Amino acid sequence: MKYEIKCVGLLTSGGDAPGMNAAIRAVTRTAIFNGIRVKAIYRGYKGLITGEIKEFKTENVSNIIQQGGTIIKTARCAEFMTPEGRKTAYENMRKEEIDALIVIGGDGTFTGARIFAQEFNVPIVGLPGTIDNDLWGTDVTIGYDTALNTIIDAVDKIRDTASSHERLFFIEVMGRDAGFLALSSALASGAEAAIIPERETKVDQLEELIKNGFRKSKNSSIVIVAESEVTGGANGLAERMRREHPEYDVRVTILGHIQRGGSPTASDRILASRMGVAAVDALLDEQRSIMIGIVNDEIVHVPFTKAIKFDKPVNEDLLGVIQILSI
Ligand code: ATP
Repeated sequence: MKYEIKCVGLLTSGGDAPGMNAAIRAVTRTAIFNGIRVKAIYRGYKGLITGEIKEFKTENVSNIIQQGGTIIKTARCAEFMTPEGRKTAYENMRKEEIDALIVIGGDGTFTGARIFAQEFNVPIVGLPGTIDNDLWGTDVTIGYDTALNTIIDAVDKIRDTASSHERLFFIEVMGRDAGFLALSSALASGAEAAIIPERETKVDQLEELIKNGFRKSKNSSIVIVAESEVTGGANGLAERMRREHPEYDVRVTILGHIQRGGSPTASDRILASRMGVAAVDALLDEQRSIMIGIVNDEIVHVPFTKAIKFDKPVNEDLLGVIQILSI
């Protein structure tokens, strides 16, 4: 039986990422263009359970393409992890006459979507919205490019003080499970090294750094560190450094939430716009339980099961590039 879609529900879930608003705009306008009504669900799955739902017209998404965050808010929702919570969510969907969902978020969001789709036979398409870039099946995620640019902007500023005072800076960036932000920002900011989660269990990255003779002829050094419970992140490494190599004048900067904010870059706006259009097109093509991805500049459809299950590898060869370029 063909599942006719007259009304689509749209939500953002998990951590916010710059470009989510551009995606909301693209989904809303593409749906309306195709004669489909759009209902914005506030605060992720929470709004589906509490019924915080509002119909969007094209004006509701005016003037938001340049805004960071998400105008429909985001939240973590433990209740959606229970069968009772999802049942209430489904009842609200029916009450609101929502036939399908487009969800913007990370792997947690898609895990919830996959379960919900299976339980209630709901057509759902996902858009990858996370600054960490850690979703398998897509070259980039919405928000990653903006976060990367925010980081290098901050590192450029820290470099001024690092070189004036001849200090070693450990700068902590987000990405406790994936080193994309740390690796790329180290490369783009000319840092001495990146310390990433993918290598935590393979080598002692700090020891490797010292052994490679970093800071040989330099009056300052910058090391980008991904947040980590294993190494203790920038603070943990700095403590070790002070203990084991007191000759270094070590400082720490934790960039924290500034990495999530700000106006999305041109790349993120374009990515979010293309993906938003592709999400509605996919629903109209009767695609179900897939994430929209982009590979070699082509839109692809990635089953939720794969996007959730597989880890996207970082290109560890880039560590060697960073090392060569920092001599
Ligand atoms: P980010 O990458 O920014 O952390 P995310 O989508 O991975 O984004 P999560 O907090 O992991 O963020 O998940 C978002 C929401 O998805 C959760 O708050 C919950 O409502 C839902 N969710 C996650 N895992 C499940 C699950 N196993 N079953 C049902 N719902 C889930």
